[in-house]
Amino acid sequence: MPELRQNRFTKEWVIIATERAKRPKDMVVLRAPRSLPSFDPRCPFCPGNEKSTPPEVLRVTAPNDSRWLVRVVPNKFAALQPELTPRRVVERSHRTVNGFGVHEVVIETSDHSQITPLMPDSQVASVFRALKARCTDLSLDSRIANIIIFKNHGVDAGTSLEHPHSQLIATPVISSQVRSRLHEALRHYDDFGECMFCSAVEEELQDKSRLVVVTDRFVALEPFASFTPFCTHIYPRRHMANFADISGEEITDLARVLRLVLAKLYYGLHDPDFNFTIRSAPAECAGVKYYHWYLSIIPRLTRVAGFELGSGMYINTVLPEAAAEFLREVDVESAAAPDKPQLVTAAAFESGSRG
Ligand SMILES: [Zn+2]
Ligand SMILES: [Zn+2]
Repeated sequence: MPELRQNRFTKEWVIIATERAKRPKDMVVLRAPRSLPSFDPRCPFCPGNEKSTPPEVLRVTAPNDSRWLVRVVPNKFAALQPELTPRRVVERSHRTVNGFGVHEVVIETSDHSQITPLMPDSQVASVFRALKARCTDLSLDSRIANIIIFKNHGVDAGTSLEHPHSQLIATPVISSQVRSRLHEALRHYDDFGECMFCSAVEEELQDKSRLVVVTDRFVALEPFASFTPFCTHIYPRRHMANFADISGEEITDLARVLRLVLAKLYYGLHDPDFNFTIRSAPAECAGVKYYHWYLSIIPRLTRVAGFELGSGMYINTVLPEAAAEFLREVDVESAAAPDKPQLVTAAAFESGSRG
């Protein structure tokens, strides 16, 4: 029987279409393997071509080594411009703000061929350190209302350059989608005196059926009302409204958890295109008790069609519980070294291991 589930954070409904249900492995994307050189002389993000990008705003280097690990540069084709002063104009029914904003690119590695699911954890941690530094810095700019961090991996996820990179866009307004999540979170806090996200994570830890990876600091899970197959959320277990409040130890662990989840998707579903985004509280909500940041990974396995566009409701053909079980059982270590014997991960998971 199909089931409608409500997203607790947005109040949106999702149709879990068990009649049309697909087994998780039916979602495997069949495509030619990606094959990229580790250096492309025409790529603006490859080492040696640093002059092809606008001057960098941040560089992460290894100790005692001048070569860069991560660079942050303004987007050459930015959607918004940082040198403007935002000015709001209301003219009858029309409301506008001039195109102020910050649009930056985080070049995640000097290796053109690397992809996040297979990167060393330490490299992913360097990317998060750079993102934290940029968020902290940009939050001090009173013109900025909200910062969105995101990554597009693959053509179906909207990427235009193959060299691994993520992006950050800071806007002078808060989108209605972000506002609505904040309102729901505040309403819950007023009603129950607790963070809705902290309580949801506790509930999921007890239920266990939708968990994918659990560590002392983070929980990766399939949301109960997941709008699309294998959408995976990663929540910090410590209450934090803003991503920029993450500690050094938490960055190390987040990098490991994100990399592990992406590797499970990579090996389990054959390298799907994906987006991820960090849903952090806007600067004006720094430190609030009612909102809790999280990272959302969305593999691009299905297309948005007329029903979704017309209703805002999605049809998900994979049960979140089945997706979680499937991902738990993808053994990344064995998949990375196929000559080694297959290990059973389910037992390790049951015993509360970090598997
Ligand atoms: Zn490159
Ligand atoms: Zn919380």
